[in-house]
Amino acid sequence: MGAQGPGARDSDGNGAGNTYENVTCPFCGILCDDLEISSSRSGLKVKKNGCGKAIAGFERDVSGAKPQIGGKDVSLAEAVTAAAGLLGKARLPILGGLGTDVDGMRAVMALAEKSGAVIDHALSDAQYRNFRVLQSGGWVMTTLTEARNRADLFIIIGTDVHKMHPHFFKRVVNVETSMFWDNPPKRTVVFLGEGLDTSGVTGSRIGEVISLPAKNERLGEIVTAMRAMSKGVAITGDTIGGLPRAAIEDLVERCKKATYGVMVWAPPALSFPNADLTIQAVSEYVKEINLHARFAGLALGGNEGAVSTAAVAAWQSGFPLRVSFASGKPDYDIERYSMLRMIAAKESDLLVWIASFTPDLAPPDTDIPMVVLGTPGLRLASKPEVFIPIGTPGADHAGIMVRVDNVVSLPLQNLGRSSLPGLGSVLAQIESAL
Ligand code: SF4
Repeated sequence: MGAQGPGARDSDGNGAGNTYENVTCPFCGILCDDLEISSSRSGLKVKKNGCGKAIAGFERDVSGAKPQIGGKDVSLAEAVTAAAGLLGKARLPILGGLGTDVDGMRAVMALAEKSGAVIDHALSDAQYRNFRVLQSGGWVMTTLTEARNRADLFIIIGTDVHKMHPHFFKRVVNVETSMFWDNPPKRTVVFLGEGLDTSGVTGSRIGEVISLPAKNERLGEIVTAMRAMSKGVAITGDTIGGLPRAAIEDLVERCKKATYGVMVWAPPALSFPNADLTIQAVSEYVKEINLHARFAGLALGGNEGAVSTAAVAAWQSGFPLRVSFASGKPDYDIERYSMLRMIAAKESDLLVWIASFTPDLAPPDTDIPMVVLGTPGLRLASKPEVFIPIGTPGADHAGIMVRVDNVVSLPLQNLGRSSLPGLGSVLAQIESAL
C-alpha cells in the first residue's frame, strides 16, 4: 500500500494503491497545487491537471538504483563513509547543482558550514541576472495570484513561457474569474520576442494577442525607448530595436491605459551577454509607467529548486547563494564563488553535485573528483567517485518548496513512489561521519 498523505485516499479499496489529490508539482517553479495522482505497484500515474513535464517527472521509473563507489554497487553506509572521507580531505569543496527543496537546502547549509564548502546552484547564472537588478536598483514586482486576479495587460518579454512553465497561461492568464470583478475585463497579451509560442493563450477571457518578434538582444533597447517615450522624449527613426516605431508607440499607449499591466520574463530565457541590463531596463520601465498606471514585473523560472535554495541560503546566511564557508563564516562574492568559474579555474578539489528532481540537471564535464547525490537516471558524462541515489521531494518523500514569486511556501506530499532516502537524511549522515 502506498504511503498515506494528507491528500491521499485508497483508490481501489483493497490496499493496492492510493489516489492523491491537491498534489503540488515540484517540476517547475510555478508549483501547481491541483494535481491528482494515483499510485499503484507499477508506479505513479498523473490523472488530472499535470502538464507533460509533470507526467515525465512523476511517472519516471526510479527503481533499482543503488549507491556506488567507482561504479560498483555498495551499501548506503559505505557510500556515506566514502563521501565523508572525500569531503574531509578536500581543501575547497563545492556543494553545487543544489536541485533540492527547503529541507534539503537546510541540510546543505549545515554541511557547507561544517566542511568549509562553497554553495552555488546550477541555474544561478540565470538567477543572478535578476539578483543584480534587485540588489542595485530594486524593482516593483507582483505575484502569481495578483497577476491572475488583477491584470488586464500581460507583456511577455523574450521568454517561451509555454515551454518553460506549460500551465502558466492556464492558471494565471486564461482564467475566466477574478476575485475583484463579476465580469472581469478581457486581457491583452503581448509577446515581445522572437519565436515565442502563443498557443497557450486561449479562451473567452483573452481579447487581443499581439506578437512583436524582436531579437532578444534588442529587447533592452526597445524597453529603454519605451521608457523614454513615456517620459515624453521624442524618438526618431522608423524602427526601434528592429520593430516598426508605430508598434512600439502603440505598446506604450496600451501600457499607459492598462488598469494593471504585468511584464513577465524568466531570466534563463534571457541568455545573452549582459542580459541583466535588459532586466534592469524592464524594471526601470515598470517604475516609470507606475506614474501613469498600475504596473508590475513578474519573474518566472526557478526550476530545479532554484528559488527554494536561494531563499534558504538568504534566510540562513544573509546571501542568496555563491557563499563560501571556507573561513568559518559566510563570505559572499557573486563572481569569486561562481561554481562554474571555480571549476574552470580548478580552484576546487571536490564537487558534491545534488540533483533530486530531473535527470537533466547534469553536472558540468570536469575532471575534478565528484560525489553525486542524484535522482536515478541522472545524466552523467563519467562515473563519479561516489554516487548516492536520492528521492525527489513531492514524489518519494515529503518536503516544502518556495514558489517562483517568493511569497508562498507549499508543502509537497510523500506519494510513496520509492523508498529512496531524501537528501536531508543522506547529508545528515555524511555530516555526522565527517
Ligand atoms: S506547469 Fe510546472 S508546476 Fe505546473 S504541472 Fe507543469 S511542471 Fe508542474
